Amino acid sequence: MRRPVIAGNWKMHKFIADSVTTALALKPLVVNANHCEIVIAPVFTAIKSVADRLEGSNIRVAGQDCAPEQKHGAHTGEVAADMLRDAGASYVIVGHSERRQFYGETDSMVNRKVQAALAAELTPIVCVGETLAQRDAGLAERVVKGQIDGGLRDLTVSALERIIIAYEPVWAIGTGRTATPEQAQQMQAFIRRIIAERFGEEASQLLRILYGGSVKPDNIAGLMAQPDIDGALVGGASLEAETFAKIVHYNAA
Ligand code: PEP
Repeated sequence: MRRPVIAGNWKMHKFIADSVTTALALKPLVVNANHCEIVIAPVFTAIKSVADRLEGSNIRVAGQDCAPEQKHGAHTGEVAADMLRDAGASYVIVGHSERRQFYGETDSMVNRKVQAALAAELTPIVCVGETLAQRDAGLAERVVKGQIDGGLRDLTVSALERIIIAYEPVWAIGTGRTATPEQAQQMQAFIRRIIAERFGEEASQLLRILYGGSVKPDNIAGLMAQPDIDGALVGGASLEAETFAKIVHYNAA
């Protein structure tokens, strides 16, 4: 009943030409994948070219970030959510741990970006996740709850229906160290519980919660078999069309 989402985050990789080449290589490989939504997030400068070439396909395009401001103006270096929409994106990643860690993104900025994305009719993929030190200190659930409370502040139930959450433990991102399916399931069930407390049981059952952190073709099936894992946000393994297509086809025998 929850349609899975397999999303690729290309981070700061690929020039425009390579982005288009990868997107075009992916297209025929996933043309029959009707079981999930497929999303790729190229760098800002490649979004328009990639989106144009994917028009009419089953692959959607995402931005990797957006401005917290909704009104266009003097915000040097920022890209507004509706500008992403204008370039052909229909999703946007918000609150990725690299933005939180290296660019000082706070929960209240994440919240403003979520609101901006929704106002622009983009689907925000809101990332949450604890660091290794926080997990080792027994604080993982508290940290994730704080990120959700702050990031989704003032959201209505109908707004919640238009967002996706990605649980990405920081210690599993780009490290080759995946959370076990059980670890991911445990946290994702916890996330669904806190969403249920705030937004109601029905809304929590509709919410898609992705897992991210060193997802590869050989570990995706085990993750997807968990009841509260509704897809994946994939970094490194999304850069090559063949590898990403294998992840999209996690359900193939
Ligand atoms: C990510 O960037 O969101 C991510 C999960 O990266 P990786 O798959 O490389 O760990």
